[in-house]
Amino acid sequence: MTYDPQNVFARILRGELPCRKLDEDQHSLAFEDIHPLTPTHALVIPKGPYESLLDFADQASDAELASLVRLLAKVARDKQVDRTGFRVIANTGSDGGQDVPHLHFHVLGGRRVGPMVKRPSDG
Ligand code: AMP
Repeated sequence: MTYDPQNVFARILRGELPCRKLDEDQHSLAFEDIHPLTPTHALVIPKGPYESLLDFADQASDAELASLVRLLAKVARDKQVDRTGFRVIANTGSDGGQDVPHLHFHVLGGRRVGPMVKRPSDG
């Protein structure tokens, strides 16, 4: 699939839409999720046009890959969930529940995040 340059995170990266920025470096940006599910709910994204983890793994430079992982850890520490624990999620594609077609990692914490995945029998 081709990257959609009109997706909401691409527009944030171009400065066309606002975000509550937490941090950034040359290759990655971290900002608050607009609809937080937990007391800490940050998003960490690459600045490059990567739709998913698959494109990122295939096409990103080592510097971009390292930047994203380091910014994830930095956000967790800055949000002080490093001691209490947190969850990082990258929803991918339709079964993964990805709504925005620009790779993003959710950083969730500040309370017990709960079971990783509901069983179908849980409804
Ligand atoms: P996903 O379902 O994994 O694609 O997650 C998309 C996330 O982006 C959701 O948690 C949304 O709340 C969040 N989101 C959508 N638009 C914005 C925005 N303009 N600023 C910050 N977060 C956003």
